[in-house]
Amino acid sequence: MTITIWGTRGSLPAPSPENNHFGGNTSCVSVEQGDTVLVLDAGSGIRRLGNNFPPGITQVDILLTHLHLDHILGLGFFLPLYNPAMRVNIYGPTGHKESLLTRLQRYLSPPLFPIRLQDLPSRPNLIEINESAFDIGPFHIKSSYICHPGPTLGFRVENEKSVFAYMPDHEPALGSAHFPTEPAWTSGYALAQGADLLLHDAQYTEEEYRPRVGWGHSTMSDALKFAELAAVKKMLFFHHDPSHSDERLQQLQQEAMKNNHFSFKTGIAAEGDVFYL
Ligand SMILES: [Zn+2]
Ligand SMILES: [Zn+2]
Repeated sequence: MTITIWGTRGSLPAPSPENNHFGGNTSCVSVEQGDTVLVLDAGSGIRRLGNNFPPGITQVDILLTHLHLDHILGLGFFLPLYNPAMRVNIYGPTGHKESLLTRLQRYLSPPLFPIRLQDLPSRPNLIEINESAFDIGPFHIKSSYICHPGPTLGFRVENEKSVFAYMPDHEPALGSAHFPTEPAWTSGYALAQGADLLLHDAQYTEEEYRPRVGWGHSTMSDALKFAELAAVKKMLFFHHDPSHSDERLQQLQQEAMKNNHFSFKTGIAAEGDVFYL
C-alpha cells in the first residue's frame, strides 16, 4: 500500500513560512493500492489530494475518524465530489442521536457552505460505522471507538502483508495515573498492535497538556509510550499543534526522545511524505 500525507496539522490550518516543512493543512491521508483509494479524514489537506487525484479512478472511499471541523473542513473542496461519474462512499462514526448525514449537513449546507451535501454531483453514499470490520478492494479495515470527545474512531488498515494504524485525535492516557498500564484497558491498543506504521496524536508538550487534560489529545511522550506498548515498528507524531513551528517541532521531538531508547522508529509526519508498506 502507498500512504501519502496531505495534512498533518491539528485543530486549525496553520499555513505560514515557519510551518512550511511539516505543513499547515489539517488531517488528511490517502492509502492506495491498485484502483482502490482510501482517504482518511477530510481536513484542509484533502483539497490538494483532489487536485492530484489519480486519473482513471472511478471510486473513492472517505473514512472520517470524527466530525470535528479540522477533520471535515476540506470536504466541500474535494474535486471528485463534483464528478457525477465518481462513486463516493463516506464512512463516519455512528452518533448518539443524529445520523451521519444530519451531522455532516450542519457544515455542508447554507449558511456555512453554499451547496448541500446531498446536492453534490457525485451523490455521496453515507455509511455509519462503529466497532466495525469491513473490506474495501484489497484492504481489510477495522474501526473502533477511541478516547476523544464525541464519537471518534481509530482505523487499522491491513493488506496481505502490512498494517497501517491511524489515530490522529487520541488521549489514551486520560484517567490513568500510571500510563501505560494493561494493554486490554488501553484505548486504541487493538487497532495499533504490531502496526508497521502508526500515525498518532502528539499535539502537546507536558506543560501544554496539564491545563488541557480531557481535551482528547496526547503529549509527545504519551504517544511514544503508546507506540511502545503496542509494539509498532514505526510511529510518526501527527496532529501538530497550530502554534508549533518546524523548528519548535524538531526541538520538542528531541526533548521527548532524550534519555529514552525505543524499539521502534520515530519521526514527525510532514505534508508530502509518502510511505510504501
Ligand atoms: Zn483534530
Ligand atoms: Zn478532534
